[in-house]
Amino acid sequence: MEEIREVALAYYDNCTPELRGKTWEFFQSMDTNGDHRISAREFNEFLRQTGYNTIITDPELFARLDRNGDSGLDFDEVLTFYYIIKTEYVRCRGCNKYLSGLYFTCFECFEAANPSTFDLCDACHRSSNFTHHHSDHTLFLENHILLYYKRGPDDSMAMEYLYAQALEYYDKATPELKRSVMSFFQSMVTHGANQVSLSVFNDFLKQNYYDWIFNDPLLFQKLDRNRDGGLDFWELLTFYYIIHTRYFNCRECQVYLGGLYFTCVACFEGGAHYRRHHHSDLGTYNLCAACYRSRNFVSQHPHHTFFLDNHILLRSKRGLPPYATPSLVNYTVIKSHLVL
Ligand SMILES: [Zn+2]
Ligand SMILES: [Zn+2]
Ligand SMILES: [Zn+2]
Ligand SMILES: [Zn+2]
Ligand SMILES: [Zn+2]
Repeated sequence: MEEIREVALAYYDNCTPELRGKTWEFFQSMDTNGDHRISAREFNEFLRQTGYNTIITDPELFARLDRNGDSGLDFDEVLTFYYIIKTEYVRCRGCNKYLSGLYFTCFECFEAANPSTFDLCDACHRSSNFTHHHSDHTLFLENHILLYYKRGPDDSMAMEYLYAQALEYYDKATPELKRSVMSFFQSMVTHGANQVSLSVFNDFLKQNYYDWIFNDPLLFQKLDRNRDGGLDFWELLTFYYIIHTRYFNCRECQVYLGGLYFTCVACFEGGAHYRRHHHSDLGTYNLCAACYRSRNFVSQHPHHTFFLDNHILLRSKRGLPPYATPSLVNYTVIKSHLVL
């Protein structure tokens, strides 16, 4: 819940005054006695009147939203609820909790025209705590991996530019980060060797499902600058840099993006076009909720201002109305897509 809350607040802080007004109207429509606090009674009344009581079957939802446990929802807590209903936030099919952080989704169900996806939390996926009626569906992908897969292969990576960027990144790195790069390299070289072989590298991609992200059979060859058939420390560093800056870390504070985060839609959708325009390879531009909320990025990333969270973006890749949901405008009851 905490993570969803952070994202809802970041949207709110970045939206127009007009949309903020609409959000307040939503809050006031729930607050029937006007005490700026939504009681359990007002909450249930809202669910009943809007018909959400037939969709939201989690009896604990009010308690989960009521973060400070004072038996009433304040505006921020209602924002979290608003985000959940507006974005049709999904729950784990194993334990029924709202998903947060990394989760897994059935690839076949995602790609099919089913009204709902089959999603699992990390723990239920790991312990096989679920029954999926499609027993032939065996591929479950992490939401992060799936999102990059849906973005399409990044076949125009400017390797020379990335190599130079990676050297600069390493140069400025903390001793801790340097150690982590070194142990990554050492984990990939077989005993006594001083470079990473093609087969070890490709196994690593497969094991981590990174081959779904890159989807480029020539990635190894592109990283192997001197074409000696192996990746030395600096060549592997480029790969490490790509993974850690473009895909899984905040561009501003470098925190690992374990769950919900924001991404620049123009960079995500129009990566190739943007690269041509700037003659450099920028990849996706991801921010943690805190950096997006504080608008930390504005000086670093001035061209684009439209950000969406990875949950919404992934949903939009299923053919649901793109970018319609998170605008925090007046609510409507959408029953058909909500997963229970
Ligand atoms: Zn679960
Ligand atoms: Zn399935
Ligand atoms: Zn950040
Ligand atoms: Zn951008
Ligand atoms: Zn520009």
